[in-house]
Amino acid sequence: MWEDYEHMRPEDENVPAAERKGKGMQMEKLAIDGGAPVRETKLFYGHQYIDEADVEAVAQVLRYQDLTCGPKITELEDRLCALTGAQYAVVCSNGTAALHIACQAAGVGPGDEVITTPITFAASANCALYCGAKPVFADIDAETYNISPASVRAHMTEATRAVVAVDYTGQAAQLDELLSVCGEAGVKTGKKVYLIEDGAHSIGTRYKGRGVGSIADMTTFSFHPVKTVTGGEGGAVLTNSKELYDRLVLLRAHGITRKPEQLMHEPHGAWYYEQIELGMNYRMTDIQAALIISQLDKLPKFQERRKEIVARYNEAFSAMPELFVQREIPESDTTRHLYILRIRPERLTVGRREFFDAMAAENICCNVHYIPVYYHPYYEKLGYRKGLCPNAEKLYEEILSLPLYYAMTDQDVEDVIHAVKKIVEHYKK
Ligand SMILES: *Cc1c(COP(=O)(O)O)cnc(C)c1O
Repeated sequence: MWEDYEHMRPEDENVPAAERKGKGMQMEKLAIDGGAPVRETKLFYGHQYIDEADVEAVAQVLRYQDLTCGPKITELEDRLCALTGAQYAVVCSNGTAALHIACQAAGVGPGDEVITTPITFAASANCALYCGAKPVFADIDAETYNISPASVRAHMTEATRAVVAVDYTGQAAQLDELLSVCGEAGVKTGKKVYLIEDGAHSIGTRYKGRGVGSIADMTTFSFHPVKTVTGGEGGAVLTNSKELYDRLVLLRAHGITRKPEQLMHEPHGAWYYEQIELGMNYRMTDIQAALIISQLDKLPKFQERRKEIVARYNEAFSAMPELFVQREIPESDTTRHLYILRIRPERLTVGRREFFDAMAAENICCNVHYIPVYYHPYYEKLGYRKGLCPNAEKLYEEILSLPLYYAMTDQDVEDVIHAVKKIVEHYKK
């Protein structure tokens, strides 16, 4: 009898819902099958939170201050150092630019290899390509979803110049293990292997009590509107190395300097400057910096609310054997940027695609982070093929990102949980 009902179409209403699952529970008709959605308005996976203080901070710059290269830039850099405990910060136009100059500052160039994770935004690998180097994909840990230090070690070669480790979802990567893997490789080859932490998701996260940004050789942040703190666009590189800092500052602005100690020739006069490297224009405006500073004032409450929502989701989903909750390493005190719902397809009659569509029909608009980077046609063209990172590929088949942002109401959170429960109940084996 159970078997027969298993394959019954949901719209077969001759059979009472309770009987269909034999749980004595009223089963709700899914919106995708024509039922009422859990909510009337669409809920998106991420959204910025801008208040009047932010608006005023931006207006102040427009009224009274320099639009670029002004005091807000150094003020923001100081704030980021205070927040993270890093010695130096260089803010720039976006997180991708930050990764690019970090790779350049590390001396990444043609013939070099840069190890990164496939479960990330393409920028974490593109930064190697910008420098003429080859991205090499190490697999992830199957439960934390962060890059596996053992897999990084297995991919180290003479040519490895840097590792770009992403703090995926905001959870710190295994930074100490990665630093030792880089250290060992450096000893073997006689050349430093840099740990670049892509902290686009992890502003505010602490690792063993220290702020991310103060641990790796360089850490990059992004201030895109979906991230925890926004400037519209914006990025930063943090480091404890004066040498890297000086290079980052040069690379951000054309490779041009006025600093007497950096000049190669005698100054021709007071106007004199020199281009001593090939840099870009990756400057941030003071308008962006003012917005980010004002947003950082709210970071503590952003963190608190994100943690609350994550705890509520975890509590609800850990009770459901059809779902897998991301493992958190005890070293990471995480400010979560993304919440990953992972389904266990072996316990459901549908896969992620159908689950995603069913959520959308309930007006919960999810996303998927991420398509493994080497699946993209551009990477295919470069010769990368499926099969490189089995854990990452499996993860990709099973995940969707649920709404997670400061301004979500308790009702929004409950709506998401309601939709997930409804869909799981419907499709569970
Ligand atoms: C957002 C993001 C970036 C790129 O940041 P932008 O500011 O959009 O250029 C890089 N890496 C990861 C993991 C990201 O999520």
